[in-house]
Amino acid sequence: MKALVYHGPGQRGWDTVDDPKIIDATDAIVRIDTSTICGSDLHILKGDVPETLPGTILGHEAVGTVLETGPAVQSVAPGDRVLLSCVSACGRCRYCKEGHYGQCLGGGGWIFGHTINGVQAEFARVPFADNSVYKFPATLGDEQVLFLADILPTAFEVGVLNGAISPGDVVAIVGAGPVGLSAILTAALYTPGRIVAIDLADTRLESALRFGADITINNGREDAVALVMELTDGLGADVALEAVGVPQTFELATELIRPGGRVANIGVHGKPAMLHLETLWTRDVTITTGLVDTFSIPQLLRLIADGRLDPSLFATHHYALEDTMTAYDTFADAANTGALKVVLQGAQRPNADEQHAGALAAH
Ligand code: NAD
Ligand code: ZN
Repeated sequence: MKALVYHGPGQRGWDTVDDPKIIDATDAIVRIDTSTICGSDLHILKGDVPETLPGTILGHEAVGTVLETGPAVQSVAPGDRVLLSCVSACGRCRYCKEGHYGQCLGGGGWIFGHTINGVQAEFARVPFADNSVYKFPATLGDEQVLFLADILPTAFEVGVLNGAISPGDVVAIVGAGPVGLSAILTAALYTPGRIVAIDLADTRLESALRFGADITINNGREDAVALVMELTDGLGADVALEAVGVPQTFELATELIRPGGRVANIGVHGKPAMLHLETLWTRDVTITTGLVDTFSIPQLLRLIADGRLDPSLFATHHYALEDTMTAYDTFADAANTGALKVVLQGAQRPNADEQHAGALAAH
């Protein structure tokens, strides 16, 4: 089969590799119908993720069709269309039993395109299939479901739920990339009073308005703290979500929060950030961290099926799966291409023509 293979920092190829095979009784083999690229894939390509070894197939977000299942798999069967979650779950360890699949001790967690072969490929081996894939209604197209693999549950669980957003809250979201935009979409489920999006890029702030932000702040040229204080009678935001992953944005989130408010960090940090306890200690502020578990996929899926949540705005670019190399160039150059998410479409996906027509109509 063909797959996008990581060959060490800065190097990738669309290579011919062996087809995946069932190894464990709990595995399934899935044909990849629709996949996409994530900022983490770019981090791996930069060499920032040393545990990902050269030769690994990248990708951890996909929708596919089950072709084969191991003898222990009970809940999915050949022919089923399934969403593959970015997080796999052994289903048996302490953390899986608590729904904290991201912390799985039994060989799951974020493994696709990280420590095992991923899903930017024609086929993928899916470990722990019973606990790690989700069937979805036939009425939904791949593209409506695809973004449930990572960005939507990440923003919802680690941002919106950890931040405990209540009706009427002023919510400040620092970073309006795919994750920050997902936070805007899912924060809206709780009817906040105002959603404030903060980013350095005007193009991202324009997207934020399309996704439902009420107010945008470009913190490259505006004073974000002063503007949030002005909006909140000098108190600060009720909830601040950090969706970038650099020290400045974490510190900004802790500066614009009101006493008694909640800061939910979503960003992946590579460097230490300063925790200003000399100002925070009196302020009753709660700070949370988290790795996505994807326990919320079934709930978010129902919201999409019922028309309450529409992730189709993310799909800015479409490519055939075999053009994944070009899709990476487009995604990596988001500042110039305006890419939010690129959709990679396998040639054999079901109702391919209808899905494509639907996607074009939505465009
Ligand atoms: P992205 O890089 O596409 O978007 C980041 C946005 O932040 C961009 O729009 C950029 O312009 C903006 N930005 C950069 N520096 C800024 C600054 N100083 N002030 C304001 N805005 C700034 O990333 P993404 O895909 O949206 O992901 C966001 C973060 O979430 C990343 O760190 C990612 O690794 C992380 N993430 C975390 C989890 C988790 O489980 N916690 C899961 C997935 C992704
Ligand atoms: Zn587990």
